[in-house]
Amino acid sequence: MPSDCLFCRIIAGELPSSLVHSDDSIFAIRDISPQAPTHILILSRKHVASVSDLSGADEAIVGKLFAAAAEIAKREGIAKGGYRLVVNTGRDAGQTVDHLHVHMLGGRHMSWPPG
Ligand code: AMP
Ligand code: ZN
Repeated sequence: MPSDCLFCRIIAGELPSSLVHSDDSIFAIRDISPQAPTHILILSRKHVASVSDLSGADEAIVGKLFAAAAEIAKREGIAKGGYRLVVNTGRDAGQTVDHLHVHMLGGRHMSWPPG
């Protein structure tokens, strides 16, 4: 685990977070700066910097991120109304933490296209 990675440190319990879900592969927390009534970050426990750094061996992680999203959305009460999953990848997309994560945004109507 890179000791300078914010999300690795949160997963290791070195920094506080608001936990939503934890299992063998996935860790989900509330975003510290929510952009919607529900804003959850679904993290892979394994440190992968971004989608661009995924390899074939990480296929299962991607599946688990989305399976966890479906489960969390039901528990949070946003599955019916709908929600948006966002994976910012690289500088142009505005990725600020280089540890694979899916944003789950819900609880309000969202416009398209995103900014
Ligand atoms: P991104 O810009 O896509 O890399 O997303 C990083 C997200 O992490 C942003 O939405 C931040 O608000 C969020 N964030 C930064 N620090 C923390 C923290 N300590 N706990 C929870 N969320 C955080
Ligand atoms: Zn990390």
